[in-house]
Amino acid sequence: MILHRQREPLVLENVPEPQPKPGEVLIRIDACAVCRTDLHVVDRELAEPRLPLILGHQIVGTDVASGKRIGVPWLAWTDGVCRYCTSGRENLCDRARFTGYTADGGYAEYCTADARYCFALPDDYTAEEAAPLLCAGLIGYRAFRMAGDARRIGFYGFGSSAQILAQVAQADGREVYAFTRDGDKTGQEFARKMGAIWAGGSGGAPPEQLDAAIIFAPVGPLVVTALQHLAKGGVVICAGIHMSNIPSFPYELLWSERSIRSVANLTRRDGEEFFERARRMRIVTQRQLFTLEQANAALNALRAGEITGTAVLRIR
Ligand SMILES: [Zn+2]
Ligand SMILES: [Zn+2]
Repeated sequence: MILHRQREPLVLENVPEPQPKPGEVLIRIDACAVCRTDLHVVDRELAEPRLPLILGHQIVGTDVASGKRIGVPWLAWTDGVCRYCTSGRENLCDRARFTGYTADGGYAEYCTADARYCFALPDDYTAEEAAPLLCAGLIGYRAFRMAGDARRIGFYGFGSSAQILAQVAQADGREVYAFTRDGDKTGQEFARKMGAIWAGGSGGAPPEQLDAAIIFAPVGPLVVTALQHLAKGGVVICAGIHMSNIPSFPYELLWSERSIRSVANLTRRDGEEFFERARRMRIVTQRQLFTLEQANAALNALRAGEITGTAVLRIR
């Protein structure tokens, strides 16, 4: 499924099987989960993708050469030499390449990937169960770690990432307070089912002050909303790659050592840690399946807020 121009639907086309370069593997794809970032690329909220482009950065498939199952995440390549790479922050690499953005991704039957950036996946997950772990799980986990030892954590937006992290948070003895669109009873019920101890509309207040809030929805005003419910010393973590503008707000909301930060991309270490967690606990996801040909329908449903859980393209 090819993106030729932003703000246009993907087009189903036959293209030659990609040829792996030295250090790369050829992967026969089983499933690719849909991420909101894919939507940001299509909708031109992210600039300058490679075009034409194959989207998708939550890929589960088989390394054709070894026959082993393999996962491909968002981080496709880093230079290894810049000041970020050499200080354990390859997620911030100046020259990083990203799967399904500046490199072709997984809305396809085959892809290639640099083997050093791929992950071995826990055995007891099917391809469609493992696919959402590769970004929603992994980058969500990085955001969750930024919450430090916060006991009460607010999740603003309860979609693909939140459904996974609610389970990890609950296993760690944290309390998750889930915020959905006002009036979204289905979403709130879903959040409670996945481990939130409280769920309500984002226009309302949680029953307790929050020690941290993770903003999964791409909605800037939620940063201010979250600050209003944050205890002293708390942190607001913006987990998405794109967000609408954040309105101005009185300094007293930030006062008392509250902070706001973003989470960018992932390091390979994040992946190793997260998949270790996924091996030790069984993460359950609710998924809505689409075929490869239905990729536009999956993106449209995500844009319309019609996906409960994660949209997954089942390719084989
Ligand atoms: Zn993603
Ligand atoms: Zn670098």
